[in-house]
Amino acid sequence: MMFASFLLSFLGFFNDPSYPNGEYIFRQSTDRQFPIPEQVALQTKSYPWEEGKVGRLPKITKEFFRCKGSSLNPSRTEVVNGENVTYYDCGGADKHSLPLFDGKENVYPVLVDLLNYIQSVTKKRVIITSGHRCPDHNNYLDASTAAQMTKHTIGAEVSFYVLGFEDKPESIVKIIQAYYGQDPLVKNDKKYTEFKRYEKTDTDVITPPWMNHEIFVKLYRKKEGRNHDNRHPYPYLSIQVRFDRKKNERVVYSWDKAYNNFLRY
Ligand SMILES: [Zn+2]
Repeated sequence: MMFASFLLSFLGFFNDPSYPNGEYIFRQSTDRQFPIPEQVALQTKSYPWEEGKVGRLPKITKEFFRCKGSSLNPSRTEVVNGENVTYYDCGGADKHSLPLFDGKENVYPVLVDLLNYIQSVTKKRVIITSGHRCPDHNNYLDASTAAQMTKHTIGAEVSFYVLGFEDKPESIVKIIQAYYGQDPLVKNDKKYTEFKRYEKTDTDVITPPWMNHEIFVKLYRKKEGRNHDNRHPYPYLSIQVRFDRKKNERVVYSWDKAYNNFLRY
């Protein structure tokens, strides 16, 4: 009797209209009311500062070559022919452009390509210490007559070292030479693939430079070639452009190109 009344109250509980009733669901495990799209893993979007990379390294662009001058640098005075001459640094990249090529800012593209190639082979970062130098910044670094005609002033020279290879610059020279062996336009041209040593002693380095038709590579030892742009304890390399493949002409310094071929702001 007790059980029957319990059962009746139990059933009454389920019949209570204020309480939701359970129902059996009749469907197959594969039935879908809405199709479920396949899950695809999304790649994380890169931030703007991560764009333009070679592997994990930032891709070298002309921006890396901007003049390293700064109006914050103190003036420098030296005695020239018995007289004090004071040199002031330029205002840096805020105050002037890179050299102009067909009206656009740039440096010789082979320099950019070579440095990116070095990064791609070494997987290490190339540190540009001196790219374009406007004449004011160049005088501030070194006002000697020999330094006046540097190709840094026309966007045809770069000084750099490679992180992790600071004390192995010769191995970077080998990579520079190897660049020409993989360039489809010149890989069968000995003028580009074979490098000669420049044996004359009229340079500012002890190590005989390496040269092919297009470039001239100097190795500055630890105590050589130090200036405001190259104040670091490592040896470094400089690459000069000798020949412009696009225009099919030699690349030479000229006062006009150095002084008049960039914009001042
Ligand atoms: Zn400058």
